Amino acid sequence: MAKAEVSLAHLFRVFTKPEGTDSKLAQIEQHLSDNVSDFLSQHVVTQAIPLEEIEKTFSDHRVPEHPEFVSAHADALLNKLVKHSVNTYSPTFIGHMTSALPYFHLPLAKLLVGLNQNLVKIETSKAFTPLERQVLGMMHQLVYQRDGDFYDAYLHSANHSLGAFCSGGTIANMTALWVARNTMLKADGVFKGVAREGLASALRHYGYGNLGILSSKRGHYSLSKAVDLLGIGREQMLTIDCPTQRLSPERALKLAKEYEANGNKLLAIVGIAGTTETGHIDPLDELADVAQEVGCHFHVDAAWGGATLFSEKHRSLLNGIERADSLTLDAHKQMYVPMGAGMVLFKDPNSSNAVRHHAQYILREGSKDLGATTLEGSRNGMAMMVYASLHIFGREGYELLIDMSIEKAKAFAKMIDDHPQFELITSPTLSLLTYRLRPAFLANHPLLKHADVNALLDQLTVAVQKQQREAGKSFVSRTRLHTSTYHNDPITVFRVVLANPLTTEEDLQDILNEQLDIAQNLDIWKALLVQDKASA
Ligand SMILES: *Cc1c(COP(=O)(O)O)cnc(C)c1O
Repeated sequence: MAKAEVSLAHLFRVFTKPEGTDSKLAQIEQHLSDNVSDFLSQHVVTQAIPLEEIEKTFSDHRVPEHPEFVSAHADALLNKLVKHSVNTYSPTFIGHMTSALPYFHLPLAKLLVGLNQNLVKIETSKAFTPLERQVLGMMHQLVYQRDGDFYDAYLHSANHSLGAFCSGGTIANMTALWVARNTMLKADGVFKGVAREGLASALRHYGYGNLGILSSKRGHYSLSKAVDLLGIGREQMLTIDCPTQRLSPERALKLAKEYEANGNKLLAIVGIAGTTETGHIDPLDELADVAQEVGCHFHVDAAWGGATLFSEKHRSLLNGIERADSLTLDAHKQMYVPMGAGMVLFKDPNSSNAVRHHAQYILREGSKDLGATTLEGSRNGMAMMVYASLHIFGREGYELLIDMSIEKAKAFAKMIDDHPQFELITSPTLSLLTYRLRPAFLANHPLLKHADVNALLDQLTVAVQKQQREAGKSFVSRTRLHTSTYHNDPITVFRVVLANPLTTEEDLQDILNEQLDIAQNLDIWKALLVQDKASA
């Protein structure tokens, strides 16, 4: 491959924008975007190539010695990287929360990189800082519905914040629990607060054995990363199983009381608004009562389900969310914004002061620098993507999208329920559902309750899911769930997330047909038939 000359003159050219639309750069850009469009019109994966093969093209361990021409490198990226990426835009890619984006994000992404603002401080982000605060205010209003005076007072206040923008739900959950911890273990008399003296001194001062967090077993794994990082420890993550997929407020209260009776202090109860695995929503209003009775922080993880608030028809599913002290939202899920757009919101605009940090050259006291209360430092202007989406879709546009996804999930659930060879495991509350293959002869059959038959069905689900993924036409994910139907024993299920607005009912029918075809050619299917004969 032709190498570029090693000279400052060449490197300066790389930093300078070429003139004219027929410039080399414009050609490269056109070439790249044509290739991306071609890629996105194809199947989920374009070539059934094993991961190990791809690893071979990325196994050079030395930094390239010589500069390369941009055009040559662009071609290399297309061949090595783009070609083997996963087409998350495909209407038959229905296994994860990552899906197609509206086209307008491509030119906006160019603008974002073009401006390269850093939201950590006003000096590198002037107009972007007020924009980000406004976006946080809009989302805050959607949840907490305070009046105009409230937002006039706090939206741009240097000493308050309605929330924080961050890269995703994980950081949002961490920020919320960080604020909760520092608020509960605040300065008190001679004690200078956990942020200054550390957790050991704080527990000693307040006379607590341990600090704990309570959620259902369906809680996202980012919660256990958070308790680890905050020094609370994973064993203090109290999780309650939920065969109905929702956290029981009675059991939460009982466990909280037991925990505190042993000399510990419950820091927070986390309610989930849209679990990652099944899309269920915890009874938020009742959990807020429990948190109030226990005297702890109430956090709601609405990373997935928060966007349901745009829908007049469905927002009542989240009743009680307005009582959350803090709340996590991911705009890169049901708000169709590119990845890297998480938010944490605080009911009380003073909350984030519990984690405020100052530094001399940056984040000076009294400044409006967002970095003083965010976990992350340098951050890009992703808030602009949310801002643009909120305007381009409007609340009404988002409402249509949310309502449509839920309708589609219900239609798919009915399709599965009516199908003799499939079994619906969890019905959709939001646009998620789980199901599995279950040969028709097993329906209502006592054998279905047997552990070894369920073990075979688990193997069947795993084998079908893998083959379907490898065939590359469509993608459905899988997980293991405890359900009351099967004595709370875990079973393996297909998991579907219906986020892509372009997925049709015909696509869904095709996916079931493909799964059944794969299954009927497997030895496990035959083994199940033998079980049937034996029991007859
Ligand atoms: C996706 C998700 C998270 C984590 O968010 P990331 O953006 O992946 O960091 C946390 N909680 C729930 C309920 C989620 O759905």
